[in-house]
Amino acid sequence: MNVLELNDVTKKYGEFVAVDNLSLQIEKGKVVSLLGPSGCGKTTTLRIIAGFTSPNSGTVQIAGRDVGHLRPYERNVGLLFQDYALFPHMTVGENVAYGMRYRGTAQSAIPSRVKQMLSLVQLVGMEDRYPRHMSGGQQQRVALARALAIDPQIVLLDEPLSALDAKLRLELRVELKEILRSVGATTIVVTHDQDEALSLGDEVVVMGGGKIVQRGTPTQIYEAPADTFVAEFVGRSNWFRGASCAQSSNGTTLFVTKEGIEIRVKSELGRQHDTADLCVRPENVELVDFAASELVNIKDANVLSSKVLDVASLGADVHVVVELPGKSRLLVIRKNDGRTADLVPGQPVWAVFPASSVLAFEAPNVN
Ligand code: ATP
Repeated sequence: MNVLELNDVTKKYGEFVAVDNLSLQIEKGKVVSLLGPSGCGKTTTLRIIAGFTSPNSGTVQIAGRDVGHLRPYERNVGLLFQDYALFPHMTVGENVAYGMRYRGTAQSAIPSRVKQMLSLVQLVGMEDRYPRHMSGGQQQRVALARALAIDPQIVLLDEPLSALDAKLRLELRVELKEILRSVGATTIVVTHDQDEALSLGDEVVVMGGGKIVQRGTPTQIYEAPADTFVAEFVGRSNWFRGASCAQSSNGTTLFVTKEGIEIRVKSELGRQHDTADLCVRPENVELVDFAASELVNIKDANVLSSKVLDVASLGADVHVVVELPGKSRLLVIRKNDGRTADLVPGQPVWAVFPASSVLAFEAPNVN
C-alpha cells in the first residue's frame, strides 16, 4: 500500500519552476532518500508534503486521503527539519509531548508515550533537561523522538545529521536507521551527504531540475545509473569520450578517445552507441607494476599505460592520480592495505580495469 502519493506536483516561484510535474509513490514502511544537487527542489518537495508550501498544481495524498486542504498540524506527518529546532524554553519531555498536545492526545496517555520515545532514542531519564544542557547529538535524538511521538503516517527528515561532527554523524546515522526500521516508519530523508543517502535509504530518488531523474535501490543507482547526470552525481567517476571502433568476438566493443586511449566496454552496454561517454569508477581500477607477470592472466581487461602523478593517503583509502597518454588523468581509489608505499610519483604503472566495469552512455559526438 502506498502511504504517500504525489501526482503531477508543480511548484513555481515566479517563472522559476522549483518542482516540475513530479509524481512519487512511497510504500508503507519504506525509507526513501531524496538526493540531488543544491537547488533541485528536494526541500520544496518535503515542504509541499508537510503542508508548509502549496503547489501550483498536482495533488498530495497521505494514506489514501487528499491532504491539499489540510494545514501542517492537521497532516499526520513527523518532521525533523533543519530549521525546526527544539523549543529552548521547554524541557525534553515537553518537547517530545508537544505534537501530541497539539493534536489533542489524551493527557493520561502522554507521559508513557514520552517515556517510550525517550527509550527508543536512548535518552531515558532526561525528561526534565533543557535542550541547551544537551549535546548536538542528544538534541537531534530528542527531535527524532518528537517527530515519531505522534505516530506519524510519514516521517520527513531534512538534513537530520548535518549539524553534527563527522564521527557523531556516522554513529547517529546507524542509530537513525535502526530506529526507523524498528518502528517501521515510512520516511523521506533529504541529505547532501551521498553516503548518508545511500546507507539510509531502501530506495534512492535522484532529482535534477525539479524532476525525478532516477529511482532505484542504492546499488541500482550506483551500478546502473540512468544517465551521465546520475553517474557523475553519485559516487566518484573518471570520464572519457570515445568513438566506437570495433566489436570483438569476446563480447566487448572498443572505443577510442581523441587522445588515442583505447577502452573496451561490454558490448551489451556500448554496442548501440557510435560515440559514448565512458565512466570508470576509481575503485574499479587496479594499478599494476610495469614488470608484473600477473597481467597475462587478466581477461577482457583494459590495460592502459600510465604514470603515477600523486599519492594521497586518506586513512582507510588511498587516492592515486595517474597520467594517461595525452595528459588525461585517472583517479584510482584503493584500500589502504600497506601497499601504498610501493607507489611513488613518476613511477610507470598499468592502470587495469575490466570491460564489464565501464559504464557507457550515448554521446552526441567525439569532440
Ligand atoms: P538544497 O540542497 O540547497 O537545500 P534543494 O534541492 O532543497 O536545495 P529547494 O530548497 O527545494 O532546493 O529549492 C529549489 C529552488 O527553488 C531553488 O532554486 C531555490 O532558490 C528556489 N526557491 C525555494 N524557495 C523559494 C522561495 N520561497 N522563493 C523563491 N525561490 C525559492
